[in-house]
Amino acid sequence: MKSDHDLSTRCVHAGEVRDAEGSPHTPIYNTTTFGFTSTADLLDVVEGRRPGNLYTRYGLNPTIRSVEVKLASLENAESALVFSSGMAAEAALFFAHGRRGIVCLGNAYGGTLQLLSDQLPLVGVPTFLLQGEDAGRLAEVLQKEGPGLVFFETPTNPTMEIFDIREICRLSRSFGALVAVDNTFASPINQQVLALGADIAVHSATKYLGGHSDLTGGALMGSKDLIEAVAPWRKNLGQMMAPEIAALLARSLRTLPIRVERQNQTAQAVAEAMRDHPKVARVLYPGLPDFPQHDLARSQMSGFGGMLTLEIHGSGEDATKVVDRLELFLIAPSLGGPESLATQPMTTTHFGLTPEERRKRGITDSMIRFSIGMEAAKDLIGDLHNALKNI
Ligand code: PLP
Repeated sequence: MKSDHDLSTRCVHAGEVRDAEGSPHTPIYNTTTFGFTSTADLLDVVEGRRPGNLYTRYGLNPTIRSVEVKLASLENAESALVFSSGMAAEAALFFAHGRRGIVCLGNAYGGTLQLLSDQLPLVGVPTFLLQGEDAGRLAEVLQKEGPGLVFFETPTNPTMEIFDIREICRLSRSFGALVAVDNTFASPINQQVLALGADIAVHSATKYLGGHSDLTGGALMGSKDLIEAVAPWRKNLGQMMAPEIAALLARSLRTLPIRVERQNQTAQAVAEAMRDHPKVARVLYPGLPDFPQHDLARSQMSGFGGMLTLEIHGSGEDATKVVDRLELFLIAPSLGGPESLATQPMTTTHFGLTPEERRKRGITDSMIRFSIGMEAAKDLIGDLHNALKNI
């Protein structure tokens, strides 16, 4: 697929293997292994003389390779790997490229923070979590500790903080560190992290890429060399995505642009409608012109995504009342699906933290995080108005 085709064209066509039966897209090769006509034929594949199918856990399965070509194309990368979950993708990345040390900037996903703070140090990987104001210490940590990898999300959960991808990549590169950006919140439709200077794009495919709340998966995209170095970790940690899930993911990727564009528009409309609501203290959405980092967001995002956070006037209990009164928004973690979701960071994603730790991360008890789905904006706004009555 030509890389000068538009992203939406690549979402439909890239990677598709059309078989002799005339299927418009890659069939599901629902098999664990592949047969050969002779030992010499098998050895040609095993010893790398020709590409071929071999064993599904290795990723040598046409359905898996097909979705990887599509995923690489979405981030304009040379190569991509799929995984059984976003966390599997991160774990393999950290083992392959983070052994000299990993710096994590800002509020990453809770599972990522736990892996970095509690588990990787147990196997000797040095990790440095720079949250809140500590994010400003990146240059100092790069200089003193010599880590091999800088990792961050942008926008972050739940405060929608924006990190300057170009600047962080410039700084990290000057100290010889690779940069991996978790692009799950924005999706490749709204933010092209490799074009902005990152070495590796990370995705929980469970979210926008999967887009229907019906699959769990992960992906890494980057240069051939960097991605090939991760493949043996995926293979021997057994983190492969099943072929049925790879086909389901490819199905979803074909409609990714229209889904994300619709979610962008609806989130913008909800954010604007909530901005002047008397019960709402702050709307955290990068697409609002008065969002403190709106200009930075505009400089690196082409759309502002479907995630937004409201801080209401009132207590954590008042925020709980609002969440419990919502009828269209499900109370559920996760994001990126067709159903709008609401969560209170205090009771879900940041439950284990003390109020002081939450404050350090800019998270208050009266915040509610929303994942905007595919419903009509007016219905979601109506639901929010009802839930905010008499708080
Ligand atoms: N990255 C981000 C930004 C996430 O929100 C999540 C999960 O919520 C993950 C990574 C982990 O993904 P998964 O649940 O697919 O393992």
